[in-house]
Amino acid sequence: MLKMNNLCKSFRTELVETHALRNFTFSVDEGDFVSVTGPSGSGKTTFLNIAGLLENHTSGSYLLDGIDVKTLSDKQRSQLRNEKIGFIFQSFNLIPDLNLFDNVDVPLRYRGLSRAERHQRIEESLARVGLANRMKHLPSQLSGGQQQRVAIARALAGKPRFLLADEPTGNLDSQMAKSVMGLLQEINQQGTTIVMVTHDPELAMQTSRNVFVRDGQISEAETIMPLAAASNQ
Ligand code: ATP
Repeated sequence: MLKMNNLCKSFRTELVETHALRNFTFSVDEGDFVSVTGPSGSGKTTFLNIAGLLENHTSGSYLLDGIDVKTLSDKQRSQLRNEKIGFIFQSFNLIPDLNLFDNVDVPLRYRGLSRAERHQRIEESLARVGLANRMKHLPSQLSGGQQQRVAIARALAGKPRFLLADEPTGNLDSQMAKSVMGLLQEINQQGTTIVMVTHDPELAMQTSRNVFVRDGQISEAETIMPLAAASNQ
């Protein structure tokens, strides 16, 4: 479980202080597929970066599976991140001159796994995203949607409990976006909790819960009602 209570985050530069998140109180339960929507600059990415332990919050509390992340050393934070979190981004962040197998292997190399275990995880995760037969291809030989699938496989190979996605379909046409969204739904149904930032209300409708962020705060009134929740009413 991911639980934020009255969390604030500000960025201070010489000239201004920006309050990116203000009294943000929110939790994500095991098995959720949460979408985070809101206007540009409202704090969505800041929320995701704090949730994924890429950034520290300024005040308030954040508990990840009961662990108060403020109490952790840098080393403990990165261990916890490796253990529990997978990320995918709008720009797939693949290494262009490595084939798919080696791209998925990159984060695994730092985890102290045996070569055999790494191989097994790479093959399994590429199979899960439907690219088992493309392991020796370079990213440039794939469509955008397939490249995002590789990025998803790379995240899954770490066996994360939480998959955090920042605009995962932002660079894709609507057909490819639909297919990547279908894959994320499948991964969620198989047990991975997902938090996805998106500008697209149609995608938000297909998640299990939405949080709408405006000016660094949750705006209950603007929350999007997902289709599954609507049909239960
Ligand atoms: P978008 O949809 O455009 O990606 P967002 O909702 O993800 O926007 P954030 O990127 O979280 O918004 O930014 C929230 C606020 O915090 C903005 O005013 C932004 O300028 C500011 N901000 C974010 N990161 C930093 C930083 N590293 N230094 C200073 N200000 C920052």
